[in-house]
Amino acid sequence: MCATCGCGDDSAVITLAGERHHDHPHDHSHEHTHVHTETISLEQKVLAKNDLIAEQNRAWLAERDILALNITSSPGAGKTTLLERTIGELASHRPVSVIEGDQETLLDAERIRAAGARAVQVNTGAGCHLDAEMVRRALETLDPKPQSLLFIENVGNLVCPALFDLGEHSKLVVTSVTEGADKPLKYPHMFAAAGLVVLNKIDLMPYVDFDLETFEKLARSINPAAAILPLSATTGEGTAAWHDWIELQANSRMSQRSVDKT
Ligand code: MG
Ligand code: ZN
Repeated sequence: MCATCGCGDDSAVITLAGERHHDHPHDHSHEHTHVHTETISLEQKVLAKNDLIAEQNRAWLAERDILALNITSSPGAGKTTLLERTIGELASHRPVSVIEGDQETLLDAERIRAAGARAVQVNTGAGCHLDAEMVRRALETLDPKPQSLLFIENVGNLVCPALFDLGEHSKLVVTSVTEGADKPLKYPHMFAAAGLVVLNKIDLMPYVDFDLETFEKLARSINPAAAILPLSATTGEGTAAWHDWIELQANSRMSQRSVDKT
């Protein structure tokens, strides 16, 4: 997986939305790591190092009472659109900030900033997922407010984001009716790792061949515990339940903290 694809080589570029940078390093000089028999142990080492930093991120966020949610999906499922709407609807009663992950461009961080929230863009270059070190560096730049809500929009990819703990409270997966009902079976690791499954673009249901019952059955077969929320980030249908879920996570974090203190 990522040990050979260029992920995790510390070349991520982090930019605060609103800041122009002119020296984007299109550095294609990284040597590909040619590992064959060593692949498995290298993966384990990469993941162990990642988990250590993720725990530090988790502690950093807990000290500040920040609720961090790691949003994963395939490209184009509507993560950024969901965040734009969520910022509009929630930012009045809870500060929201966003870490945006994409291979290239500042486009999504600019969209988030235009929607009214602070954002940093992490450009992963060749990398296909965010890792805990990128998030640690992004947190330094972003400096989110205590008691705020932090969304981490992962790189669009249903494969390796499942493996990388970023220090978040919960992962969620966004999928959409245009992608077909069989995604939970094709990407079981991502669906199994998610605390919530958002089914987006339900406004397009009349125009596509998507069977909701089949999707729910398949998603539950992979992950019986995760809630499934059908919604449309475009029309706003179903987003009340999404806000309730966020509130529930904030409250469960607070009760977890009071348990930890006793
Ligand atoms: Mg996006
Ligand atoms: Zn990756």
